[in-house]
Amino acid sequence: MSLLVVGSVAFDAIETPFGKTDKIVGGAASYISLAASYFTKSTNLVAVVGEDFPQEFIQHLNKHGVDTTGLQVKQGEKSFFWSGKYHTDMNSRDTLVTELNVLADFDPIIPEAYQNCEYLMLGNLTPKIQQTVLERLTKRPKLVVLDTMNFWMEIALDDLKETLKMVDVLTINDEEARLLSGEYSLVKAAAKIQAMGPKYLIIKKGENGALLFHGTEVFFAPALPLEEVFDPTGAGDTFAGGFIGYIAKTGDISFEGMKNAIIFGSAMASFCVEKFGTERIIDLSETELNTRVNAFKKLVNFSI
Ligand code: AMP
Repeated sequence: MSLLVVGSVAFDAIETPFGKTDKIVGGAASYISLAASYFTKSTNLVAVVGEDFPQEFIQHLNKHGVDTTGLQVKQGEKSFFWSGKYHTDMNSRDTLVTELNVLADFDPIIPEAYQNCEYLMLGNLTPKIQQTVLERLTKRPKLVVLDTMNFWMEIALDDLKETLKMVDVLTINDEEARLLSGEYSLVKAAAKIQAMGPKYLIIKKGENGALLFHGTEVFFAPALPLEEVFDPTGAGDTFAGGFIGYIAKTGDISFEGMKNAIIFGSAMASFCVEKFGTERIIDLSETELNTRVNAFKKLVNFSI
């Protein structure tokens, strides 16, 4: 079933304790659409890049079955650029540079063929643009998932709160949940955030897994303990891509369905962190994915 992904497609420069990259391809929507493509062959992308963006990556997306008709290429302009540096524990990072470039006046034009999408994943972007996408869809999708970050909470909180009223699922990390709600307890934060609009809330906790909240129900998915975490950039987006991709495959938007989707999202994210950027998730085999999902099942399986 068809999925529409909107978000940044970008260049990133990353520094981790294991190494440093020059500008490599990144961006929320790059990770999301790649991850989702392992579950649904009907992923459509709306994003914007500058003329500096490599055609080769767009071809990679197309090879994965991602439709890029909605990807605008702005001649004479530069792509969005983000740079970050991780601390030794790899759980936290500092943003060094955010250059919006083409994203500053991005007008998300939705191709006619994308209008009937059943699932919408609004990746990290200006909240106002995320809202515009929703307003431009003639039919509301069956499920709308939104990802955002502290950057937007700090500079566009009112817009973000408006946008939150329009979505079903919000994915943020624990630090962002605390910032958005003003509550330290994640349970209290979840209640406050659900009252802002999204009836489902996913709180990502990096190497400590993820929590799914819905009313008084809670589900926890661990992160797979890995020998080496090389670069966590995009793990949250890859998680979101696996999550929404799996939902688009099954069509099950119940709490039970989301529990499974979170495991698939976590499995996808566990690959992402093994190499820099999108390198590890660009060419996964079905066997690799199934083996990893089974490792998750084994990790949490016990009989009392
Ligand atoms: P994550 O590690 O999952 O939080 O995602 C990192 C990705 O988000 C990087 O590839 C960045 O290009 C992208 N990103 C960082 N800041 C922003 C922003 N303000 N707006 C949109 N995308 C961003």
